[in-house]
Amino acid sequence: TMDYLDDAVPSEAPVPPQVPLEDLTGPHVTEIKHHLARTFDLRSFRKNQYEAISAAMEGRDVFVLMPTGGGKSLCFQLPAVCQGGQTKGVTVVVSPLMALMTDQVDGLKAKRIDAVYLNSDTSGEELRHIQDCLYSSHSKPSLLYVTPERLKLSGTLKNVLGHLYRSGQLARFVIDEAHCISTWGQDFREAYQELHTLRDDYPEVPIMALTATADRKTIDDILVRLKLRDPAVFEQSFNRTNLFYSVVPKRSVEEMVSFIKSTHPNKTGIIYRNGRDSCEKLAQQLRQKGLNAKHFHGKMGKEEKKEVLNEWKSGKCHIIVATIAFGMGIDKAEVRFVIHFDLPKSMDGYYQETGRAGRDEKPADCILYYSFRDLQTILKLIRNDKDGTSTPASIERQDQAAWAVIRYCENESVCRRTQVLQHFGEKFDKKDCHARCNNCVNASSMVTGDFTEEAKQVLELVQSLQRGQENVTVDHCRNVFKGANIAAVRDKGHDRHPSFGAGKDIPREVLELLFNKLLYLDALIEQSVQTNAKWHTQYVKLGSKAKDFLAGRQTLQLSYRPKTPKPGGKAKAKSSRKPARAPPSKDAEQQLEPARALYADDDDIEWS
Ligand code: ADP
Ligand code: MG
Ligand code: ZN
Repeated sequence: TMDYLDDAVPSEAPVPPQVPLEDLTGPHVTEIKHHLARTFDLRSFRKNQYEAISAAMEGRDVFVLMPTGGGKSLCFQLPAVCQGGQTKGVTVVVSPLMALMTDQVDGLKAKRIDAVYLNSDTSGEELRHIQDCLYSSHSKPSLLYVTPERLKLSGTLKNVLGHLYRSGQLARFVIDEAHCISTWGQDFREAYQELHTLRDDYPEVPIMALTATADRKTIDDILVRLKLRDPAVFEQSFNRTNLFYSVVPKRSVEEMVSFIKSTHPNKTGIIYRNGRDSCEKLAQQLRQKGLNAKHFHGKMGKEEKKEVLNEWKSGKCHIIVATIAFGMGIDKAEVRFVIHFDLPKSMDGYYQETGRAGRDEKPADCILYYSFRDLQTILKLIRNDKDGTSTPASIERQDQAAWAVIRYCENESVCRRTQVLQHFGEKFDKKDCHARCNNCVNASSMVTGDFTEEAKQVLELVQSLQRGQENVTVDHCRNVFKGANIAAVRDKGHDRHPSFGAGKDIPREVLELLFNKLLYLDALIEQSVQTNAKWHTQYVKLGSKAKDFLAGRQTLQLSYRPKTPKPGGKAKAKSSRKPARAPPSKDAEQQLEPARALYADDDDIEWS
């Protein structure tokens, strides 16, 4: 079952174009190049960095849209240390997260740049010291980081800014993660709304807004709300050329472990899960299997989080198993893999999370272990309205976002990059993927088979059980259809059902595809029934589209990749019109067994 995983081995990633320094021109090019090399210890600019920096130095409003890891910070940090240009003095950076701020300020201090931050952690004494510096004529910091809440609420801070403004010492406002201002986005922050006052209160001060969240609506919203004046806008493709995207069926922890061990031994990675408990459990399982892993989630204490983060950053711990609490502002360049072991909640989130891989621009793997089942968990999470902020509209929006992820996973024919980027309104030609996604790699070996007849048989089985008032799960149904000789089937007498074993020749993974597709198409639905005080069980029933199949008005095609026979094995690839119908060899079935047994939700099955 590892064949498709081997495809995820990074091939040579195309090298992103770099702008040769000697070709750059502009009024401030000398000073900019000087700081790039001397202060930031970098050799070249990435796409749009120089242009954004130049525009800022000319005193213009700037909007920068760059993918996560693209290098947005340099766009405002470098102008902040320059003396020339139209703007002098302190650069005020609005940043949404404390972790993000402390990270950046520490990084700047290590480069001997004078930077300070103000957040709810700042003590009174520190605050007074920072104030003194800001009022003094000689030792002003180059960058002042603040949270939007602080900016909104602190009178002291407003006084300081007013003083700086009047003395011409307010160089620029920088709004990092600017999408937080937009109610369209998922990261909307109340206090970001107030930032529209910056333009009114400090009309002469240029504003730079930066974000990695790209859809058109959000961008326009940002430009309007911040009242940017004729901004220099820098946008770029969201394609991350060095990332390899794949979606593979979720079967077992073992499969993932052997993938990591064989492809990324002793390398740094992130594994995302949706629940805190599952993070802790998985991290422990990984440790038992010899991987250097720790968990991270929102309910951990501040100190504990910091410790885990530091161990990971220093390389003492290789793998973090985390909820999405582990995210924004995590800046570690050499992350070789980002794995989603549970279904991501949205394509937006998926893109952001996978974006944490390969920031050093070397090849990295983004693997999503897909199980249609995970959708149920997500839909439940969406409805589990802990802070009482859900509205029917917000639930609907989140549902749609989750379904978009399902469509992405189910779509095995369109280049994964094309699909991901389409989500951001970007048209992407699959030839530019250079076969660095598993759909492009598999394109040659995928086969499409017609399963209309089998679909009808499955629906007839469900129909007959439904008529007999029998409540069964999808798994049970699949077992009956496959002809599994197991107690659960025998106990209900379903081994004598006319449809028992009707699909015995279809390989298990194709059967799974078939059932998922029927659920996906609303030919089957799952109904949640309370079976006792604590438990709900999902029973399978006919859905609204079932009649189309039963009446023969609807066909069903499945695209899948037939198992390649192992060298020396007995199995022969049949080049028949419908390759999937060839009965699987005993070998192939046995290879599936160990993995299956470990997959948490499944019964133990012996095949008849
Ligand atoms: P973003 O805010 O866009 O997600 P960052 O500003 O945090 O990205 O930068 C991501 C990484 O890229 C950092 O490790 C940073 O040091 C590195 N980086 C940024 N610009 C350059 C450059 N011109 N050359 C090399 N590395 C760079
Ligand atoms: Mg950033
Ligand atoms: Zn592709």
